[in-house]
Amino acid sequence: MSARVQRLSDFVANQIAAGEVVERPASIVKELVENSLDAEATRVRIDVEQAGVRRIRVVDDGGGIHPDDLRLAVARHATSKIASADDLARVHSYGFRGEALASAASVAKLAITTRHADAPNGWRLAVAGGEEQGCKPAAHPIGTTVEVTDLFYNTPARRKFLKTERTELMHVQEAVRRIALAHPAVGFELAAGSRSLDGLAAGDTFERRVRSLLGADFADESLAVDEAGGEMRLWGAVGLPTHSDGRAMRQHFFVNGRPVRDRVAAHAVRQAYRDVMFHGRHPVFALFLELPAALVDVNVHPTKDEVRFRRSRDVHDFVFGKLARALREVRPQGRPVPTATAEAEPFRPQLAVGPGRADTSHYARPFDHAAARPQNLARLFQQQSPPEEVRDGDPPVPPLGFAIAQLHGIYVLAENAEGLVIVDMHAAHERITYERLKAQLDQGDVPRQRLLVPVALEVGAAAADFIDDAGDALEAVGVVMERAGPAAATVREVPALLADGDIAALARDLVADLADFGTSTLTRERQERLLSGAACHGSVRANRALTVPEMNALLRDMERTPNAGQCNHGRPTFVVQPITALDRLFLRGQ
Ligand code: ADP
Ligand code: MG
Repeated sequence: MSARVQRLSDFVANQIAAGEVVERPASIVKELVENSLDAEATRVRIDVEQAGVRRIRVVDDGGGIHPDDLRLAVARHATSKIASADDLARVHSYGFRGEALASAASVAKLAITTRHADAPNGWRLAVAGGEEQGCKPAAHPIGTTVEVTDLFYNTPARRKFLKTERTELMHVQEAVRRIALAHPAVGFELAAGSRSLDGLAAGDTFERRVRSLLGADFADESLAVDEAGGEMRLWGAVGLPTHSDGRAMRQHFFVNGRPVRDRVAAHAVRQAYRDVMFHGRHPVFALFLELPAALVDVNVHPTKDEVRFRRSRDVHDFVFGKLARALREVRPQGRPVPTATAEAEPFRPQLAVGPGRADTSHYARPFDHAAARPQNLARLFQQQSPPEEVRDGDPPVPPLGFAIAQLHGIYVLAENAEGLVIVDMHAAHERITYERLKAQLDQGDVPRQRLLVPVALEVGAAAADFIDDAGDALEAVGVVMERAGPAAATVREVPALLADGDIAALARDLVADLADFGTSTLTRERQERLLSGAACHGSVRANRALTVPEMNALLRDMERTPNAGQCNHGRPTFVVQPITALDRLFLRGQ
């Protein structure tokens, strides 16, 4: 190549830049709606034809563009939102790069009709192929209408990358919904041809917006979060662990009102749910992180959907800490447990180890959340309220009631103020054991119990090699195990809480984990994972007959235990069938 260096024309430069800003119709919709919000619109109407490829029209009642600025507004790097590099550190508007309109004008035909509050009439500017197609007075109420037509008409290669109309329309809808969540006071309408996709009234509350956009189920089965600490605040709505998605779809994270996809935040949220969500399920949330603008860099990507935190570790710990705490406090709600029962012996079944129907395979199946979701679970799971006064002469019924019977060796049936409580005793006991183990871990001491008869097991030569080095790491989680030959190991001590459990299974899991992840000091996360597995092996098996006092002790323990609504895998530990639901079964009162 011997060509000489030359400067690209503005038009070509804009087209290249547009490649980063405009990936698909939804990108333009997002930019235009953000402009409307920056202009303080109270109503935004979006119309698309052919998912926006044929036409996108966004109409707002914001402040409008001054006639003298109209031509400049479509030029690249022209913005009214910042003036200096310093302003970037305190930007509160969505826009600041001044390239959305210029980009749109370079990959589509653009027309802006606008009337500024100070101008006697409106103006219309049209641009196509980088050339102005006219700028003249036009009728328009105060506010702005931007029309983008024939997207990618001059870059056919890009057009080929578009997906089906249905998919593109989904992206458009998603873009509008994301931003609508952050602006409940603003009304949004989205129509595709004659079809109205979303109609969100102006002046909504956050709760109503959440209900419209994330679903009524979510609204009923979520917690309100609002936590502050240092210079940060985290608020919004998070789904209860039993309300989850198979794909990470309904996850909305905002930083200072800006919808972002952020790895730090995503990891923190995942961690917070780690203990309570079934493997492979995804939490649903709309969370808003607020922090001083100087602590976030918003200028990371042309689409502005990524940010960089100055102190990402702090952000991670803050989000994780606040969420984990909120989730931990979810437990059966109701009147306080009477003192007499509250001080009853903790539930500690004498496990019959050996044959019998100790089959746990049914616990390994993914849980069908939709089918098992009782209507009133949410109410019962509301964040624990401060205890009400206990009135004299009115013996309060504890939230999970009193045990009546055991069913098929699997379920405990109890009666509470509402009706029938059904408890999966293995799942419940597993959670209680796990939470106790974690508390012991927090105190730096997991009490161990020496086994009367050490348990010997074959682990395979490869795994056995790890056991020699793993002494300290294992002791930290309460296990003393040693190598006993080329491929065998002996377990001598286990956490006291698990002494009655299936020791061999527990040890096998530990060894497998060591072989997979190495033996150096265990992170807290790994310790918890090990204990969670161990709790499963150490918990009461199905087909174990419990006495009524044992069952009541289990219920009281559940009421005291954090996260008691789900087992360690996120399956519910109990459901409630209120009398009204039972009445319906028998067609009573109909
Ligand atoms: P940015 O939003 O980064 O400033 P844009 O290219 O999106 O860049 O818009 C350029 C300018 O045009 C904005 O700074 C703003 O002054 C003006 N503008 C664009 N859309 C609107 C609108 N809907 N209402 C009022 N002003 C607008
Ligand atoms: Mg903009």
